[in-house]
Amino acid sequence: MAEEGTIVRKKIQATDLMNKIMADYFYGLNEAATSGTKKIAWCTSVGPAELLRAMGFDVYFPENHAALLGATRLSTDMIPEANAIGYSPDICSYLTSDIGAYLKGVTPLAKAYPGIDAIPRPDLLVFNTNQCRDVQDWLAWYARELSVPCIGITSPKSINDVTNPLIDDVARQMEALIPTLAAISGARFDMDRLRETVALSRECTELWRQVLETATASPAPLTFFDGTIHMGPAVVLRGTREAIDYYKVLLAELEQRVTEGVAAVEGESLRIYWEGMPVWGRLRQHSELFAGLKTNVLASTYCSSWIFPSFDAKDPIRSMAKAYLELFIVRSDAYKETYLREMLQKFRIDGIIYHDAKTCPCNSNSRYGLPQRLEAATGIPSLVISGDLNDLRCVSDEQTRTNVEAFIEQLEEGK
Ligand code: SF4
Repeated sequence: MAEEGTIVRKKIQATDLMNKIMADYFYGLNEAATSGTKKIAWCTSVGPAELLRAMGFDVYFPENHAALLGATRLSTDMIPEANAIGYSPDICSYLTSDIGAYLKGVTPLAKAYPGIDAIPRPDLLVFNTNQCRDVQDWLAWYARELSVPCIGITSPKSINDVTNPLIDDVARQMEALIPTLAAISGARFDMDRLRETVALSRECTELWRQVLETATASPAPLTFFDGTIHMGPAVVLRGTREAIDYYKVLLAELEQRVTEGVAAVEGESLRIYWEGMPVWGRLRQHSELFAGLKTNVLASTYCSSWIFPSFDAKDPIRSMAKAYLELFIVRSDAYKETYLREMLQKFRIDGIIYHDAKTCPCNSNSRYGLPQRLEAATGIPSLVISGDLNDLRCVSDEQTRTNVEAFIEQLEEGK
């Protein structure tokens, strides 16, 4: 087996620019919230952000904040606060850590961005249940706490084909949001502005796809762990020029690496696919664990979830409805199996790791026999690791290390 060493993943130079763009985004939100110059909508991560921007809102994403709580390892101490008011330790730990942090008056934004004291107060809360029901419950709590309206889209789930009746249903629900958005923002609905915003999102998503697909090269110029950081602008700034400009810079750097044969993980010997959520509080450890085994975790469903190929400025609302229904998390296991097979082939994957996240069943695809079916069909071995996205009490570092090392050894022997 490969000896574990001190190899770490190669730093991406564009990171400094991304940090500046993210800082500008948070300072902009803070300015809007404290001065009242712009209305703020909170939106779930795969909610109708384009519509909100086109209606003049600045958009804040509670899931992004929850991921920051996880990455800064504040989350585990916040969760009991939400448990104490009746939100179970078994439900989404994004929800419990974010609500817990609010109750404790804690935000990682305060440390990262001097001058910001609190998350931006919303004028409106907007959800889409395409990913799970937890997002609706999460925003409903804030709606009660802050006396703010909460509206959204109730999406079909576990769908095989994205049919016209399903798209019509979601498109109608999106249209039904518009009067409330107009009443709160004071702006009238402008179809041309929505077209422009959807066109910007489309360009962003296309660049993000190209960024992720640079990892089809051998050696791959980026890792899943880089992807979880660099997806920030695709999540919170899709529909803006800033995100597009950033991904052009990032893509150029990664293409340069491909041209020069520069590996994100020196001596890349094995190529792994990550299925499921990251363990935010263990990004560095996991990155170092795999890099030390000369293994690159280089592709994932999670990072690819911000690729929306159906956005179309010619038909903005319907295309948004279609794009937000086509997501992996919304789909049937039959669809997921086909999707994963294509990803394994495209990225020439040697093995799959499924993260079974205790508090996120919707993003844990190892519970209904999918790994076994996929392995039988492709011959590509898989490993399930138990953990969680934000609740580190569910994570066993020793067990993860032992299981990953044994898995890598098995893959090496099978090569
Ligand atoms: S998909 Fe999972 S992590 Fe995301 S909000 Fe829903 S339960 Fe939480």
